[in-house]
Amino acid sequence: MSPEDVKEDPPYCRGMVVMAHPDDADWVCSGTVAKWCAQGWEVVYVLCTDGSKGSDDPEMTGPRLTEIRHQEQLNAGKLLGLRHVVFLDYPDAALQPTLELRRDITREIRRHRPDVLICSSPVRSFTSSSYLGHPDHFAAGEATLSAVYPTARDRLTFPELLEEGLQPHKVREVWIMDRDNADQYVDVTDYMDTAIAALKAHQSQVTEEEADTYMRRWRSEAGAKVGFKYAEAFKRVRLG
Ligand SMILES: [Zn+2]
Repeated sequence: MSPEDVKEDPPYCRGMVVMAHPDDADWVCSGTVAKWCAQGWEVVYVLCTDGSKGSDDPEMTGPRLTEIRHQEQLNAGKLLGLRHVVFLDYPDAALQPTLELRRDITREIRRHRPDVLICSSPVRSFTSSSYLGHPDHFAAGEATLSAVYPTARDRLTFPELLEEGLQPHKVREVWIMDRDNADQYVDVTDYMDTAIAALKAHQSQVTEEEADTYMRRWRSEAGAKVGFKYAEAFKRVRLG
């Protein structure tokens, strides 16, 4: 085995997923998260917004929807075996990659000290003929990547975090949800039942039939590229 091979498979044990909305992570990477949790990793979700806009129901209110979506995400987290779920509760559909958001994500990185962090892409893609992408997803991706590097690492940025007792932390790898440039495919075949169950916990956002159909369709498309029945695809950046 060459030194490069050793570097390919380090003994990581802490993961973090930062996404804009409750349900985002369970749509895109719940198979990988289920696998990590089954392997004994401590995994934390950080959701940037309160999810208060995601309903067409004329009877629904923002605060009530936030409460429902918090509980749905906590239920999904129990199924997956998450260590912790953090809600930053920025207003849904108005997320910006501000310094305040960057600081709040940095706080969670320094507190939970992930080896590998999964986030959304900050770049709008036009390869899909049916989906434009949500502006909150791009904002969350930009703020998260900027929190990983350089802010979580640099002790003199946001000194208030040091005063809170949170020491700098270097994330080792970032896995970005960027199917166009994917170079990391995780075999999630054995974790599909758990992943789909986690998505189904978001009852205000998805029907059981939609969850079954789309989770399997997207993961079988990704898996077909690398010879797995079901896979999740990421752009992997190793920070050393
Ligand atoms: Zn979303």
